[in-house]
Amino acid sequence: MNANVSRRTFFGMAAAATAAAAVPILTESQLAYAQHRRIARDLPPGAVRIDANENPLGPCSGACAVMSSLLPEGGRYDDQLTQKLVDTFSAMEGFKPDYVLVYAGSSEPLHYSVLAFTSKERSLVVADPSYEAPIYAAKFSGANIVKVPLAKDYSHDVRAMIAADPNGGVYYICNPNNPTGTITSRADVEYGLANKPKGSILLVDEAYIHFSDATASLDLVKADKDLIVLRTFSKIYGMAGLRCGFAIGRPDLLAKIQAYGMNFMPILAVAAATSSLQVPELVPERRKINTDIRNDTFAWLTANNYKFIPSQTNCFMVDTGRPGKEVIAAMAQRNVYIGRVWPVWPTYVRITVGTRSEMEKFQTAWKEVMSTPASAHSEPRRDPSLAGLGSRDLPPQMRRELLS
Ligand code: PLP
Repeated sequence: MNANVSRRTFFGMAAAATAAAAVPILTESQLAYAQHRRIARDLPPGAVRIDANENPLGPCSGACAVMSSLLPEGGRYDDQLTQKLVDTFSAMEGFKPDYVLVYAGSSEPLHYSVLAFTSKERSLVVADPSYEAPIYAAKFSGANIVKVPLAKDYSHDVRAMIAADPNGGVYYICNPNNPTGTITSRADVEYGLANKPKGSILLVDEAYIHFSDATASLDLVKADKDLIVLRTFSKIYGMAGLRCGFAIGRPDLLAKIQAYGMNFMPILAVAAATSSLQVPELVPERRKINTDIRNDTFAWLTANNYKFIPSQTNCFMVDTGRPGKEVIAAMAQRNVYIGRVWPVWPTYVRITVGTRSEMEKFQTAWKEVMSTPASAHSEPRRDPSLAGLGSRDLPPQMRRELLS
């Protein structure tokens, strides 16, 4: 249980959440698997894994040291460590601690926010292409899903999103966007807040914000606006497997999402997160590493006449000029696992920025694949058992949908 929620509050909320649906929590790893059909543990040795927007640097050295020293304490429910994380982040950002909830990754509060604020009557409005997890959550609340194309500059077309459904419950703004790595302006976020229907929220997902120049929306939370901001330690902090993230919002909004599920936080994850926040040079250093490798990759793509969308994060979209799924399969044959295709742009594939040596291997494989006639490739083979979405398996219907 989060340290900042009392037992009494929790039981009160649980009783109130009589209609709470059990929803499977989707992450990048399941979405990546659905595309190339191979789970991480089955990949051949030396595989280049640039398919799930992970950070190859992993947790920083301070976080690793803290986790090692804490291992012998693993038998204890030490919820002070979670409270310390909340206090550290709140003090850094100038929040009262009750504006911050800690979860095992931001996927959980993302799904719960969609469940809490959408319904059969109130839709989910998303950009297209954007991160798909909210869409899967909305299937559980029964909400209508309204997809609005990205604007010409690949920002969210917030005006069109608000106009698309005057009865939206959640307007999801992924800033910067996954998969394009592009930014939505502060003015557009403010427009959304000023013009959205009453009772709805903006769900502003800042998973990739540290890589970019995007303006954070945390001050809008401080101003008590109707938004929930999501943050994660999975990206720049390199802790995807450790699992830690935040929902940040007005306490009355957070109370609504808490009703959908809570659990005691793993002590290693929260201690590593706190330690990462306490290294001021960590974000700028890692941001520079990512930017340099990404820009060198862009220079190579440009020099070789490959069309891509300039991104500010650790992923970007490249146009293959042929069915993207075929390129994914052909790259996998060369032991390079790239990210997925979004149905709205079937010729584009998403590439995660890996290490310098991984991006060199990517370039070699890419050139080979792209210089082979499109007709020589075939789509990836289906896994007839539909098994293997990791140890946390999904309900059969969702598996079928993901793998279709
Ligand atoms: N939001 C976006 C946009 C993502 O791309 C991801 C994962 O890649 C998440 C949220 C969830 O990440 P996690 O649950 O690891 O914090």
